Amino acid sequence: MRKKIIAGNWKMNLTFDEGQKLTSEIVNMYKDEQVSDVTVVLNPPFPHLFPVKKLIGDTAGIFVGAQNCSDKDSGAYTGETSASIIASFGAQYVIIGHSERREYFKEDNELLALKVKKALENGLTPIFCCGESLEIREAGTHESNVKFQLTDSLFSLSAEEIQKVVIAYEPIWAIGTGKTASADQAQEMHQALRRHLASKYGKEVAAEISILYGGSMKPDNAKELLSKEDVDGGLIGGASLKSRDFIDIVKSY
Ligand code: PEP
Repeated sequence: MRKKIIAGNWKMNLTFDEGQKLTSEIVNMYKDEQVSDVTVVLNPPFPHLFPVKKLIGDTAGIFVGAQNCSDKDSGAYTGETSASIIASFGAQYVIIGHSERREYFKEDNELLALKVKKALENGLTPIFCCGESLEIREAGTHESNVKFQLTDSLFSLSAEEIQKVVIAYEPIWAIGTGKTASADQAQEMHQALRRHLASKYGKEVAAEISILYGGSMKPDNAKELLSKEDVDGGLIGGASLKSRDFIDIVKSY
């Protein structure tokens, strides 16, 4: 059975104290409000990883993840952080290929394939992001564009490896813009991606892979999006910075 996952992407936000406050609130609400079968992942900036992990403690169901990792193992790469360093601080997940990394840091499909490999080698679950720009959506080539991102970055993995990857479909035009894909648009893309995975790895393997939706998911639209058959959770930016909103999204399942 594939997992239901709600992951928060804090991006480059929150000081130490702010991160501690937000984490404590989320952990307390998660416990008090008995959110049981949804896996929650908090993805703060690197310096928060260890303190956030400590605050989560042994709370079952909440995990910590990074927002990026290096494609290299170790060495003279100033400013980079390897998957092994991330794992050694107790993180279990890592976001790879967020559209902001693709756009601002020119990360391409080939580099992202290497990062996914490094994450898996070090026992981290990659949350692999894909998604089309507005221009591509308007040209009507969004499905082939996003399938290509998967083929290029993930299809060299074995069937065993691909089942350890979480995919996040994030139309770029919906990220941080307040514009959300409709639940039907999300379902259409998630179903297309699952079919694409099935064409390479078979239906059974594809059925085990969680595909999250990301792009202005909020408490008021989460329920509808999460009700769709192939939408297995959400990757949340803005709303993950407010404990009440974030937990309300988690509870929308
Ligand atoms: C994101 O950064 O992955 C994201 C989906 O952001 P937002 O929820 O703010 O659109």
